[in-house]
Amino acid sequence: MNRREFIDKSTKTTLAAMLSLSAFGTVGRAGEVKKQQKNWVWITPDIEASDDEWKRRFEKLKRVNISSLIPEVYNGGPAYYGSQQLPVKAPLLERLIPLARDFDLEIHPWMWVMPCGLDFVRKKHPEWYMVNRLRESALTKPAYVDYYKFLCPAKEEVQEFIRNTVKELAAYDVDGVHLDYVRYPDVIIAMGFWEKYNIVQDKEYPQYDYCYCDTCRSKFKTQQGIDPLEINDPSMNGAWIQFRYDQVTHLVNNKLIPSIREKNKISSAAVFPNWKNVRQQWQEWQLDAVMPMLYNKFYLANTEWIKQYTKAGIKSIKHNTSLYSGLMVNDITVLKESVEKAFEGHARGISLFALKSLTKQHYEILSTILNK
Ligand SMILES: [Zn+2]
Repeated sequence: MNRREFIDKSTKTTLAAMLSLSAFGTVGRAGEVKKQQKNWVWITPDIEASDDEWKRRFEKLKRVNISSLIPEVYNGGPAYYGSQQLPVKAPLLERLIPLARDFDLEIHPWMWVMPCGLDFVRKKHPEWYMVNRLRESALTKPAYVDYYKFLCPAKEEVQEFIRNTVKELAAYDVDGVHLDYVRYPDVIIAMGFWEKYNIVQDKEYPQYDYCYCDTCRSKFKTQQGIDPLEINDPSMNGAWIQFRYDQVTHLVNNKLIPSIREKNKISSAAVFPNWKNVRQQWQEWQLDAVMPMLYNKFYLANTEWIKQYTKAGIKSIKHNTSLYSGLMVNDITVLKESVEKAFEGHARGISLFALKSLTKQHYEILSTILNK
């Protein structure tokens, strides 16, 4: 082989390797190819829409380079898939899977993890619910809003109940399972809500501080020799704070992610930027993809914050997890800027909340910015 032939051959080999890498990236697990852009959209349940309507929606998403669907199929009430363990509202997931496949879109069913308003759980297992520092159950006295009926992640029966739902979803012909509400109720809620709820949370107040159920108290006492109810200022007690982060992390890393991986599916989660306030140490989770919900208005911040947070979020991750900036799309005037800021912060892509908010104008903006 002469020099010319050698160069030709090696160039072709490199090119072939690049092409196969890029082809692999569209079908491989999220962690395997890090650099390729991928965009997602959260989809709230809509059982009225016809198959043709869904097809029109998927076609529009495909055109603007949004390739991963996150349809909500369990939100603490009856399920939108043919569950064996939960009451079923409608088999929406079963309808969406083949339609998504027709458009070569990924599909990641979205489930709530901790809140549960199901009748049979409320009646049969009232002891599964979290208890605040005033010893009030989240079942009978939820914080902020009626649906804040959070289960306690420290209880084995609760872990099994949640894991069964994850297992059911991972068994479908889907690309992954998307976890939401993997956390405690907000001990301090984002400032953008203070006016709405007519509260000022200048410190941690006991009615929003969880969980002081018997399981948590006895587990912590065994570990640290003190009943958490006897701690003077729980907001300053590092061990008690860490104990609660660890309950959620244990559930995610040791129960839920293995059940998703077992089926060779992608694990992803929607998480909070102000993670300490919801006891959600997601930097420790062994996920494939994480979507911090960078809804800047909730935090009374501008779009520059999206960039700063995206950067800081990526830096804080301990595992091989790709970060996608979660963006609220209601406000058309800042959509372009928000997406740009996410990419300037080196997000691997964006995740939009939510499909139902996307108008013709949104699609026009997204097509210019995501197809680059
Ligand atoms: Zn508890």
